[in-house]
Amino acid sequence: MSLRTRLLLTHVFIIFLTLAILAVSLAFILRDYQRQVQLARLGDAVVPLAFQARAMLLNDVAPREALTRLQQQAGPVGSVLIVTDKGLVLADAAYGLTNRTINLTPVVRTEVPRGFFWGAHSVRPGRVLLYAAIAAGQIGGQNVYVALATDERPFFETLDEIGASLLLAGGITLIVSILVAILLARSIARPLTRLTQATEAIARGQYDHRVQARGRDEIGRLAKSFNAMAEQVQRARQMEKDFVANVSHELKTPLTSIQGFSQALLDGTANDLAGARHAAQTIFDEAARMARLVGDLLTLARIESGQMPLARDTLDLNDLLPRWVARLRARAAATGATLVTVLDPLPTIVGDAGRLEQVVANLLDNALKYSHAGGAITVTAKSTALVSATRSSILMWRHVAEPPPQNWITIAVTDTGAGISPDDLPRLFERFYRGDHARVAGGTGLGLAIARELVVAHGGAITVESELGRGSTFTIRLPV
Ligand code: ADP
Repeated sequence: MSLRTRLLLTHVFIIFLTLAILAVSLAFILRDYQRQVQLARLGDAVVPLAFQARAMLLNDVAPREALTRLQQQAGPVGSVLIVTDKGLVLADAAYGLTNRTINLTPVVRTEVPRGFFWGAHSVRPGRVLLYAAIAAGQIGGQNVYVALATDERPFFETLDEIGASLLLAGGITLIVSILVAILLARSIARPLTRLTQATEAIARGQYDHRVQARGRDEIGRLAKSFNAMAEQVQRARQMEKDFVANVSHELKTPLTSIQGFSQALLDGTANDLAGARHAAQTIFDEAARMARLVGDLLTLARIESGQMPLARDTLDLNDLLPRWVARLRARAAATGATLVTVLDPLPTIVGDAGRLEQVVANLLDNALKYSHAGGAITVTAKSTALVSATRSSILMWRHVAEPPPQNWITIAVTDTGAGISPDDLPRLFERFYRGDHARVAGGTGLGLAIARELVVAHGGAITVESELGRGSTFTIRLPV
């Protein structure tokens, strides 16, 4: 059964139930009201009878005689009964209750004059007598009441009377409510249907499919989350495609070279010693490039799948950092670059020395690769608080017993090289992303992606600032 049908049926059931409860309550309220009206009418009519009865009893008129006369005066309002204060009926014309006892329990509890009450007596099941009684004097030393009685109108008679209007009102309410329920069910079900269609579209591979996300209710939020998810899926798919294309391309270029030069060796095109040496060198370089690429890919895959366990050693960067930089001094000297290190005293951090060296070496390597000869490369390191906390906020932190803002170590590698264009900056840490000069420099475009993964795995972050033609600064932030 569809959601729409289920919603509709639920609505209709609730509407029916409400109407039924309403109808039954209304019938009971009406019956009560009717009883009050009947009792009030009897009460009004019995008062004048009491005067006459009193006079007759004083004159010792027999109860039956008195009854006949009183009934004449009462007319069609009700039948007269003469009852003792114990409930014994002394005379009754209509109900055959003479010499029987009736229930003298009052049904109306409101303040009534002394010697006056309203009552109800069940003659037999389904037939109830309503009466208003008033004290009329004494017969043979017993207090007697004159009562005016009438049949209570049966419940179903009341229902019959109002039934038609009740049905009409109920019918109109039902039709209107069902119409509203249909609209409501449709408005709830339609966005869900659209979402289902969109999910199916994504499953079919139409990753650009989106749904309309209106409103801030649950369905609106669901639609927004769906769109966000679809965007992620689309991006992931695109990255996957790009990745495969990039890997194939990166592997194909050196392979073509290797194939070409080995072919030249085989068919004797490079038969002189210099030619053979050149071919072998190219094959060697290209194979090394492929090995580097495959190595980088493996590193990335291992980091991503969590298969690269990071050591958690206590590291003293005051000692380590100069050593890491020193390893590249020879290369810097060869390119004519100046390597300057400016280190503040640093607190210890917890991390993997090998991996962090890989990151710093990669930044230095890039700085050397993308710098003009004779450029300057500066490595600075200092310890900073991430939040420049004001005195009051420190006091506040203390007050709520939370740790103060974390301290960080910042390592920056600044070069005076080519710089990076603003278009390239946001994509620099993506895999295989390479700037214009990179093709010449022979990089794989994976270095910064790996660096970022490793820094993030240490709980840190890596950022870049650059000005085209003036140089770049890569900054690593690591928690103390
Ligand atoms: P690659 O192997 O190409 O160096 P990276 O991931 O290390 O790959 O760097 C990505 C790209 O970022 C490089 O191709 C280059 O265009 C740019 N880049 C990185 N470092 C620098 C730098 N210091 N100066 C200018 N460009 C840089």
